[in-house]
Amino acid sequence: MTEISGFDVAVIGGGVIGAAIAYHAAKRGMSVGLFEKGPLAAGASGASMGLRSIWVWSHLLPIESGLRNDQRFIDFADETGEDIELDTSGRIITANSEDDLGYMHDFVERLQKRGIEIRLLDQAEIRDVEPNLSPRVIGAAWSPIGGNAMPIKLTYALARAAKRLGASIYTHTPVTAVHVAGGQAVGVQAGGRSYKAQWVVNAAGAWCKAIGKMADVEVPVAPRKGQIMLLNAPAGLLRHGIASLHKPGPQQTGGTNIRPTPHGQILCGGTSEYADFDVTAREQNIHDIARRCVELVPALAHLSVLRSWAGVRPRTADGEFIISGSEKLDNFLIATGHDFVGVTHSLVTGELITEMMIDGKTSTPIDAFRLSRFDTEPNR
Ligand SMILES: Cc1cc2nc3c(=O)[nH]c(=O)nc-3n(C[C@H](O)[C@H](O)[C@H](O)COP(=O)(O)OP(=O)(O)OC[C@H]3O[C@@H](n4cnc5c(N)ncnc54)[C@H](O)[C@@H]3O)c2cc1C
Repeated sequence: MTEISGFDVAVIGGGVIGAAIAYHAAKRGMSVGLFEKGPLAAGASGASMGLRSIWVWSHLLPIESGLRNDQRFIDFADETGEDIELDTSGRIITANSEDDLGYMHDFVERLQKRGIEIRLLDQAEIRDVEPNLSPRVIGAAWSPIGGNAMPIKLTYALARAAKRLGASIYTHTPVTAVHVAGGQAVGVQAGGRSYKAQWVVNAAGAWCKAIGKMADVEVPVAPRKGQIMLLNAPAGLLRHGIASLHKPGPQQTGGTNIRPTPHGQILCGGTSEYADFDVTAREQNIHDIARRCVELVPALAHLSVLRSWAGVRPRTADGEFIISGSEKLDNFLIATGHDFVGVTHSLVTGELITEMMIDGKTSTPIDAFRLSRFDTEPNR
């Protein structure tokens, strides 16, 4: 096997997480090789809705870090000049059950106590902020924080920006082995060639488990299918992204999410299914998504479906991220488990993994995301 020059870091996976890591590592001066088995955004990132939320998921990530996500997106777009269809118009969260409403009250109060701009809306205000929201929505909260970004454009923009900073982006180049020697990952084999690397980062989304096996590191991640659909919509039907609120915890579902695109369309999602790596869009799911979305915004009932598709989200056993080294190989890093919120937390993940490699510590405490919390690690 030909061995060609190496990198400071070999990143496996050209989704939004791998691309964000490549960008941040390159920005801080590392030489980067990014390896993607298909085109960029071939996995979950190419199927995603692109809502950016701060609060609903990853209750383990300190809220202050989540709050900076808006700024991270603004900075990325400003610094690179890339068009990622960034929308910072804020978010509406709806409660769909009395239980969720109770949780929403506590949650809004908790955030307000920390000085975060968010408030509950009464029925009149709901109509003011989002006139087409159903009068049957039992409760809603509004925050100017969050919005949307177009996930495919974001992934490509990150990879392009990384490339401008010197990164090598290898698409259609599957990683087939992780080379290990002396208790360290020393490189990867990809597209029939061997590449040396000081660090190897497994950012292969729902495929992280298979990549982990190549290094004999168990990564407890499963593919969780999500289907969404795109509707043709009259301009101005919706002003904001809308998402139903659910309590955090292992039983999280995809919830009901709706967002307008800048192209006069509306995205509606989603499902949450364990179906291995099957990404077939199913008619039954379209009906289910449509029913839930029409309950939130009745005017959607009159719109035509342009297309529907599905992707597989990387889901850990406890629903939280893995942003971690491994006990066996501490220079084999893992960045996955982003499930419903990988777009939202892409830039921060890129920063954190880069800090682990360059600074040996992270600016935000992320002990909760260690791989060793699972009993698959040898010295747990
Ligand atoms: C329907 C749907 C809606 C969503 N909506 C939202 C949303 O509104 N907001 C939000 O924040 N998040 C959302 N998400 C979640 C988000 O899209 C994911 O969390 C995120 O895309 C995960 O990114 P990733 O880079 O980890 O994985 P992926 O995008 O799956 O990337 C992993 C990549 O690794 C590659 N790969 C696999 N094996 C190999 C190999 N051997 N060699 C090289 N490359 C390999 C794959 O081809 C793939 O491109 C949604 C997801 C879905 C499916």
